[in-house]
Amino acid sequence: MSVAIENARLKVAELGKKMLTSGLVAGTWGNISALVRQEGVMVITPSGMDYANLQPSDIVVLDLQGKVLEGDRKPSSEAPLHLAIYQARHDVAGVVHTHSEVATAFAVVREPILPVVEDAAMLVGGAVAVAEYALPGTEGLAQHVVAALGDRYAVLMANHGLVGVGRHVDEAFTVCQVVEKSAKIYAWARNLGMPMIIPEQDVLALSQVYRNSYGQPKK
Ligand code: 13P
Ligand code: ZN
Repeated sequence: MSVAIENARLKVAELGKKMLTSGLVAGTWGNISALVRQEGVMVITPSGMDYANLQPSDIVVLDLQGKVLEGDRKPSSEAPLHLAIYQARHDVAGVVHTHSEVATAFAVVREPILPVVEDAAMLVGGAVAVAEYALPGTEGLAQHVVAALGDRYAVLMANHGLVGVGRHVDEAFTVCQVVEKSAKIYAWARNLGMPMIIPEQDVLALSQVYRNSYGQPKK
């Protein structure tokens, strides 16, 4: 296995622990993958294993058809979903799926999380839509998620949870954290009064700023 693949396994194992400690999942649910584009492989968390003890060697290496190339563990049951996203979105190299509580509450009432705060608007590029309901781990769920995700960076799965995507897996993780935060704010704001939604042209401008010039210039 190449250094790039071993680094990706290490990163995914680390983010698994962070996903648990940051409260975005309970137990063994949720899953994380990274695409190692130059090697044509995806590395993904194993199915149903405790994140707290996850080792890089537990992270399974698959080819882009879903065949296991390396690792003794059974890959996440959502591997078809992760692969379908990489196939549809060539700008994406990291996918994080959480069961975070407030975002999932929106997925239960099947209502999109509208862009009400600037960080989420920057990262997601619009509302977080709800994909049509399907059972977990199915090809049908993968297709619904790809359709509802479109060209944005987060999507809800009806009665299930959240998927965040990014140019790298750290970014996909941040998307999940920020969407959960914005879901909380949106729900709180609705308790206080009538939330104002960020105008569509501003959401577009914010997402362009984020993608083109936000943060430190590249050296
Ligand atoms: P895995 O443990 O197989 O990754 O599945 C968890 C999950 O969240 C299914 O949607
Ligand atoms: Zn799930």
